[in-house]
Amino acid sequence: MDSNERIKQPRKTVYILLLIGVALLLIFGVYLLVGRANTKKNTLEADASGVAISEDLEEAETPNRSSQSVVKKKYQESTDSLSSKNGTIRLTQPHIYLRISHEQKLPLKLSAGVTISDLTCKVGNTDIVDVTDGVITGLEAGECNITISYGSESVQLPVTIRELNVVDECTYVDGILIANKSYGMPKEYNPGMLPVTAQAFAQLKADASVDGLNIYEGSGYRDYEFQVKCYESIVSAYGKEYADTYSARPGYSEHQTGYTIDCNTINDEFGETDEGKWLAENCHKYGFIIRYPKGKENITGYSYESWHIRYVGVEDATAMYEQGLTLEEYLDVDSVYRDE
Ligand SMILES: [Zn+2]
Repeated sequence: MDSNERIKQPRKTVYILLLIGVALLLIFGVYLLVGRANTKKNTLEADASGVAISEDLEEAETPNRSSQSVVKKKYQESTDSLSSKNGTIRLTQPHIYLRISHEQKLPLKLSAGVTISDLTCKVGNTDIVDVTDGVITGLEAGECNITISYGSESVQLPVTIRELNVVDECTYVDGILIANKSYGMPKEYNPGMLPVTAQAFAQLKADASVDGLNIYEGSGYRDYEFQVKCYESIVSAYGKEYADTYSARPGYSEHQTGYTIDCNTINDEFGETDEGKWLAENCHKYGFIIRYPKGKENITGYSYESWHIRYVGVEDATAMYEQGLTLEEYLDVDSVYRDE
């Protein structure tokens, strides 16, 4: 080993130390980024309930030290970003739909120290909407804004009040026929497959085939009598509870509306096929919705059915698709058999 080598040796050590230092900094940086990403996620989830006001500090009570520091960071971060944007009130539910006389609690998320009495709600048209103690009530069909103020800040919440009409025992909300566990049709309602549905589906099918996909009508119109047979055969094979999850009672099947089609074969795997994916992403452009989406079983009353589409018209289908709403949520109705 000559003298040059001896000088190089300590240099090597310095380089190694430097490398370790850089590596530690990188790890710390990634740690900070992950923390930040998690914070963002928490904030978004906290916002999912509706109108969010300032930050949510519920997690601050967690005895875990590291999570406390994350929460503190979140507190700082949201306080800063919010105040700089002049918004301790944020709207996370862009639009509220109600039907007449249906009461809905205003979905507010309040930060520590803020109570409902700190807010003022001004209604644009008091003939259409009433707000008392945070409860919104629809008075007549129409649209108006509610201005929610907190201190010097305010946000606009658009509200649409819809009318529920019963014509010949069929229920229409804002002109849309609703058929689910709450709203049935009489035996005599027997329109067959409606031309508007057939035409929209023909266009959908043609456009899908341009993309090399084969979407076809597996099952379309089913009248009351047919549904009697369907439902009863399932009840006798699997019992009533099973039948009510997967099939409709006679008079409550959407297939009796004339607006519904089951695409291709009824199979849970359909949603994973190219055809099923295309249908989910594109059917709204033709006026259809995936009627029973995944994760909304408690709202629609039915299991996820990737193949079952319902015609509602392009405008409403697109609105539901963009907002991720089921027909029940969109029209603000429930889906429960009255004897349950
Ligand atoms: Zn179906």
